[in-house]
Amino acid sequence: MSIAVRRDGLPPALVVVDGQSTFTQLEGPGRCDAAGRCALVLASDAGSSDYFLGSALPGLALRIASDGASAAASRWWPRERFYVASLALVLTLTIFGAYLLWRDVRRELRLADMRSQFVASVSHELKTPLTAIRMFAETLRMGRPADPKVRDGYLDTIVSESERLTRLLNNVLDFSRIESGGKSYQFACHDLAAIVETAAHTMRYPLAKQGFELAVDAGGDLPPIRIDPDAIEQAILNLLDNALKYSGTARRIELGLQRQGPYAVISVRDWGIGIGSVDRPRIFEKFFRATTPETRSTPGTGLGLTLVDHIVRSHGGFITVETALGAGSTFRIHLPIAVTGASDAALSAAADERVMPASAP
Ligand code: ADP
Repeated sequence: MSIAVRRDGLPPALVVVDGQSTFTQLEGPGRCDAAGRCALVLASDAGSSDYFLGSALPGLALRIASDGASAAASRWWPRERFYVASLALVLTLTIFGAYLLWRDVRRELRLADMRSQFVASVSHELKTPLTAIRMFAETLRMGRPADPKVRDGYLDTIVSESERLTRLLNNVLDFSRIESGGKSYQFACHDLAAIVETAAHTMRYPLAKQGFELAVDAGGDLPPIRIDPDAIEQAILNLLDNALKYSGTARRIELGLQRQGPYAVISVRDWGIGIGSVDRPRIFEKFFRATTPETRSTPGTGLGLTLVDHIVRSHGGFITVETALGAGSTFRIHLPIAVTGASDAALSAAADERVMPASAP
């Protein structure tokens, strides 16, 4: 192999190259890039980064063009980066997909668990009043007891337990209507105080039977309000029922009706077990029941507050709760008195105060 070598100011010279040795040098690792951007230089011009070609060509050195190397590098780098970025993207998407799947599966499992608890609770709640009704009815049929007062007490229990059954069935039926989007309300102008009194009357017997004192203050000066009376009564009964169930050893419940700006506010206060800060944000969720042992040992379906919330929202109102563990709870239903009459600013200012403070009532 022959190579022509030029040197400034001198005629060109022809040199014979030991091809084998040169190629061995050229093909050595790191010597030359794929595009062959190399040059032979005189040993006297060679720098420390050039490669001397050995005894076969003592005056020559091999220079690997740095721009060629960097060009090759810059040609390769973007592709490598693209592969790395694609891999990272695929991995991220896979991990995110797996997370979503895990979250959905967990939610479904939780819902399935809540549903099976719900079925067990409903069965239990149906069984208890039915057993009482049957027992008292059979006793009365046998002509016992002789004392008319005791007999009246039995009859009261039968009526009260039947009402409890009706409430439970109404809750379940209304919930299924809400779920299927078929729940509707019959609005008309009504005296809210009369509805509060009716609900108090319905609960008076079961409360008294368990030693509760129910204080009612429905004396607020309110005009007739556009509501569905059955739905509002159902909401109040659900709150009273909860106050009864979660009172622990406390035996006082207050039911109130006042006017607060553009709203009529129905309040139910108890001095019972209260709700912890962890559970409080979730009590209006369907099937949700607090995780405390007191709640677990109390029968319930986890639907009562879901329905109350739905009813109140459907009336353009909202519900708040003030509660603390061991200090009791106050639930307040806010119903707009007259949406057309009240100023929008007053309504939205009051709605903005919808907070659930951790303080005791
Ligand atoms: P439940 O049938 O379980 O009573 P609700 O929807 O009415 O269902 O209530 C949801 C949960 O909120 C209850 O399981 C209970 O943990 C909590 N809760 C509701 N009302 C009260 C209350 N007055 N005092 C304490 N906890 C309450």
